[in-house]
Amino acid sequence: MDPAVLTGITQSVSTGTLPGWERVDELVREAHRRHTDERSGTVADYIPVLAEVDPELFGLALIESDGGLHDAGDALHSFSIQSISKMFVYALAIQEHGHERVREIVGVNNTGLPFNSVMAIELNGGHPMNPMVNAGAIATTALMPGATSVERWERLRDGLSAFAGRSLGLDGVVYASEAESNDRNRAIGRLLRSYGRLEGEPDEVVDVYTRQCALSVTAHDLAVMGATLADGGVNPVTGARVVSADVCRDTLAVVASTGLYERSGEWLFEIGLPAKSGVSGGIVAVAPGKGAVAGFSPRLDHAGNSVRSQLAIGHLSRSLGLNLFASAPAAPETTRS
Ligand code: GLU
Repeated sequence: MDPAVLTGITQSVSTGTLPGWERVDELVREAHRRHTDERSGTVADYIPVLAEVDPELFGLALIESDGGLHDAGDALHSFSIQSISKMFVYALAIQEHGHERVREIVGVNNTGLPFNSVMAIELNGGHPMNPMVNAGAIATTALMPGATSVERWERLRDGLSAFAGRSLGLDGVVYASEAESNDRNRAIGRLLRSYGRLEGEPDEVVDVYTRQCALSVTAHDLAVMGATLADGGVNPVTGARVVSADVCRDTLAVVASTGLYERSGEWLFEIGLPAKSGVSGGIVAVAPGKGAVAGFSPRLDHAGNSVRSQLAIGHLSRSLGLNLFASAPAAPETTRS
């Protein structure tokens, strides 16, 4: 489909290009090698089965907007997507319902409180506030179209698979482990419902949310998914349009302010890229117009972000000039006046 049909208008986009494929490949390998010896942080254990992962795993992948692929280390190792699913489900919800409706129902501002906070809901009159925290993510999942929760789950899975360019499967062990221990998320679902802020039956919606978090991906998949958001909504590997360019812009704006839990401000300040992390150790960062970088390594900092992934992505943001806030004068200063 002609992008103008979906976006309505051709608009200016952020600029810049990556160096050639070989240089990018060299830098991806270097970023992986440099941070392999980093062993700080701890593996998540609040979802029981996550504690059993091999903490030494470390994968890095970069997918360019023109489809160039770069993998290093354990880039093809599978893990559950967890919170990173929130950004892609949010994109699907905006595609389905539009910018304004989703903004009204879910919100776009920071709560300033942990991702699974119940207090944030109470403090805001039952409004979920932000799609990257659990309350907002559960309200967003409820917006998936479908007559039954099975249909909504299928639509969601198909949508995330289109982002990845392959059919994503459920990690049944992670799903069962989280479904047994997600009382808090179920409480959040019911609280939202009590405020009239959740469409559908709360336990069913939370079940779909738990499934979306248990979808099995690799760092390579996450980079393809992110690169689709970097490429105006067209998957650079399959060439299929997944969402509109406007949806990518809206999604990345929200992710930029809240993607790394309580460290989101610090991340944007230091690295300058919208990125989303999850408790299983994945992080995907998106450089609009250029591509996406994804890391996977299970040891997390105190806020729940993969330590090695942050270091390796930060390394690439600097070496490839990805920071969205960085610029240089267009002309030498001496020629100006
Ligand atoms: N499934 C997890 C939860 O809802 C996601 C946590 C995360 O990755 O932040 O608690």
